[in-house]
Amino acid sequence: MAGFLSRVSALLFVAIALAACGRAPEQRAEWRGQAERECVRNARVAMSPQIRVTRPIEGPGVCGLELPHRVEAFTRAGTRVSTPVVMTCPMVVAMDGWLTEVVQPAAVDHFGSPVVEVMTAGTYNCRRMLNRSYGPMSEHSYANAMDVTGFVLADGRRIRVGRASAPSPSPWFWQNERTMGVSRDGWFDLMQTGPGEDAAAPPDITFGGDAKPFWRHVRNGACNTFSTTLGPGSEDGAHEEHLHLDMARHGRDGRRRICR
Ligand SMILES: [Zn+2]
Repeated sequence: MAGFLSRVSALLFVAIALAACGRAPEQRAEWRGQAERECVRNARVAMSPQIRVTRPIEGPGVCGLELPHRVEAFTRAGTRVSTPVVMTCPMVVAMDGWLTEVVQPAAVDHFGSPVVEVMTAGTYNCRRMLNRSYGPMSEHSYANAMDVTGFVLADGRRIRVGRASAPSPSPWFWQNERTMGVSRDGWFDLMQTGPGEDAAAPPDITFGGDAKPFWRHVRNGACNTFSTTLGPGSEDGAHEEHLHLDMARHGRDGRRRICR
């Protein structure tokens, strides 16, 4: 009996010690690697001298990705990147699709010149959201995001994301109140909400400046392509100078979109 009791107390001690140590170390969500592998297996991205798969990035911590695509240019869209960047396979597909189907026609429509370069502030960056020291990791930690600061047209003109193109007042605020849902991320949802996947189309945004119709078109198109689109007027004040685009999974079924 004494032996049994000591075994039980030893087990209890171990259990309490484990609890005191806190949760197991953070692990990269399984869907991330799955999405990358599936995208590559289905050859969703055509390899070229401008797009090639490089060695996996492992850590620090949960950061990194299995199949980084190094992109110098989006080949379908015929658009170079201001600086070579790495990103996930699903991000290459989404970026190339958005540039080809939304940005290029909009640029020709509004400026009479196609886009030859997408200006970026980066893709991979191991950090938490909004550069905080706590809270959820940013999609940039997995190179599953790209910050777009503007475009260079074939005729040399530059169109930048900026305060001048911000909607005022933000129509998103009211949308958020109306469509707020609860996801397994809990509080995270309160911080980043937007039209749910059932919202037929993102609300029309009134941008200021000459490029107003262009940006409205480009951003609404981004909202239909990416799972997260954040830009000027997104209330957190962190996206006044760029469009943040990512392929995160939101909500219970991972299909909710955030568009602000
Ligand atoms: Zn970003």
